[in-house]
Amino acid sequence: MLPEKIKAESLLQEINDPAILGFCNKFLALRLDLYDKDIPGNKWFKLKYNIEPALAAGTLLTFGGAYSNHLAAAAAAGKKYGFKTIGIVRGEEPAELNPVLTNALSSGMALHYISREEYKRRNEEGFIKELRVRLGEFYLLPEGGSNALAVKGCSEILSLVNIPFDDVCCAVGTGGTIAGIISSLEPEQQAVGFPVLKDGSFLRDDINELLGNTLTKGKWRLETEYHFGGYAKSTKELETFISTFEKQNAIPLDHVYTGKLMYGVYDLLKKGVFKGRTVLAVHTGGFRPS
Ligand SMILES: *Cc1c(COP(=O)(O)O)cnc(C)c1O
Repeated sequence: MLPEKIKAESLLQEINDPAILGFCNKFLALRLDLYDKDIPGNKWFKLKYNIEPALAAGTLLTFGGAYSNHLAAAAAAGKKYGFKTIGIVRGEEPAELNPVLTNALSSGMALHYISREEYKRRNEEGFIKELRVRLGEFYLLPEGGSNALAVKGCSEILSLVNIPFDDVCCAVGTGGTIAGIISSLEPEQQAVGFPVLKDGSFLRDDINELLGNTLTKGKWRLETEYHFGGYAKSTKELETFISTFEKQNAIPLDHVYTGKLMYGVYDLLKKGVFKGRTVLAVHTGGFRPS
């Protein structure tokens, strides 16, 4: 059922930017943004093993903010594989739909907007029951699509990398992607996560919970100072970095995830954190503002 994807070699791109020359042995991007044209970036890996239970239930219901790439990706998966999708969106319906929600709608997802207060109940059993009464039976995928099956899917990301490396860097939203990456590290390898929301240190517990009893071999840590004000927030400094980076390296970045990741990695490179090491940045995809 699942299609064969493009070959791994074409996804690894060496970044030879003079701005970071000499600050590490080698710097590579793993272009998951080029992996699947329908279900972008890391979302394909997160959804991979959730497709079967969604098909069995006939309908998938999931949660996300208005800028959640996960909603659009889940909608695209439903369209491609043939199950219905319902997206529960945090906050009021925006006057003008952003590209993410437009995308989800055009893939046939039914969107329901709930207040921020109500959204806090998203993990409560009682609330899920109410949703089943209102909307019918569904397969439940938690916020951002991060569950054990998503971690399993993301544990396959590093199998695309056919060269040795020391550090793997990744943007962190809900932590499912980096949990999968951590679970597949070799003993000498390290994962560095860059939370894109403010006060992201709580994600340590979330990631540990997602890892559950998984035996991990490598080390990991979070760099929590590169959120630029919070989820989907940006600054002039970040925008300038993104446009300079894109011009220099011909790799598109977004300001919600991969822009913050690359800014953080460049900053740490320049501080000498990765001296002599081979560093891999996982380009998880993302929408560019129109
Ligand atoms: C969803 C997303 C992430 C975050 O993934 P998590 O598993 O929630 O941490 C990172 N980058 C991009 C581009 C995304 O769309």
